[in-house]
Amino acid sequence: MLSAIPIPDPAAERAREQIILKGDLPSPTNPPTGCVFNTRCWKAKDICRSTEPLLRIVDKTEVACHFPTAEVGN
Ligand code: SF4
Repeated sequence: MLSAIPIPDPAAERAREQIILKGDLPSPTNPPTGCVFNTRCWKAKDICRSTEPLLRIVDKTEVACHFPTAEVGN
């Protein structure tokens, strides 16, 4: 989702790689277990499908994600 935010520098904007999400949107009346974004997230792991991530602060920003940085450890 963050890759959809434009960068206010035209050169940097052209050079960056945008992440295109795949998969179907989940039903709002029957959301998936765990993180509601797990059916479309390219970083989703088993914990994302079983445990809802808690809101916490990472680098002064509130996030609700088990893997809030760009790298995924496993
Ligand atoms: S918890 Fe984070 S990594 Fe896992 S599915 Fe949700 S947004 Fe993706």
